[in-house]
Amino acid sequence: MVSPDAEPSGMVPDDLAARLHGVRAGIIDAARLADRDPAGITTIVVTKFHPVALIEELYALGERNMGENRHQEAQSKAALLGDLDLVWHFVGQVQGKKARQVRAYADVIHSVDRESLVTALGSAESIRDCFIQVNLTDDAARGGVDPLNLPALVDTVLAAPGLRLLGLMAVAPLAEEPRRAFARVRELSEQIRTQAPAAIALSMGMSQDYAAAVLEGATHLRIGTAITGNRPVLG
Ligand SMILES: *Cc1c(COP(=O)(O)O)cnc(C)c1O
Repeated sequence: MVSPDAEPSGMVPDDLAARLHGVRAGIIDAARLADRDPAGITTIVVTKFHPVALIEELYALGERNMGENRHQEAQSKAALLGDLDLVWHFVGQVQGKKARQVRAYADVIHSVDRESLVTALGSAESIRDCFIQVNLTDDAARGGVDPLNLPALVDTVLAAPGLRLLGLMAVAPLAEEPRRAFARVRELSEQIRTQAPAAIALSMGMSQDYAAAVLEGATHLRIGTAITGNRPVLG
């Protein structure tokens, strides 16, 4: 719906604020249902395909954690918005040859999924936070490590001097009830606890399934369209 009154320039569009407030309220409701403190849940607004102006609007509304999934787009947005105290989360698949560039601007990398990527990411002097992405489907092209290979990858990440392992990340498969999928991730997280006692975070839950993720212990929600509106189609 187009408002009859033009937005004064520089103002935050009401619909963005309304969607954001709706999601914040939804997270608080889900946390209450799960008997959890909402303060333990970080919302990452996934702003891929959207212009930097939208990120500035989100910043004005109090959001600090932004998620991107394409390297060049993320790199240029982080450079353009370098004056803002944003936390950049890279949530897409990382190409090995781009790994060093990604770690230059990404504060948190959610998609570590293979040993070669750990090597490519792990050798720098500074430390980056990361998640290991777990593939919950049978399709290897989906990104994420096969759960059978998770313990070995955990050891590799723990041994990498430039990475701090926060926990596990996953995307719920279309073919599975999201809450069941997230419960599987929680179980995997419990299984690696002896190896990596500090890696207790869970990056899971998107626009359609964040409430289910909160019920299964998500600490980092990656929410796009429910907050940003539909992604523009880039021509
Ligand atoms: C795009 C994306 C999201 C956000 O998806 P929505 O359905 O728009 O909330 C979350 N995680 C990853 C890895 C993504 O690529």
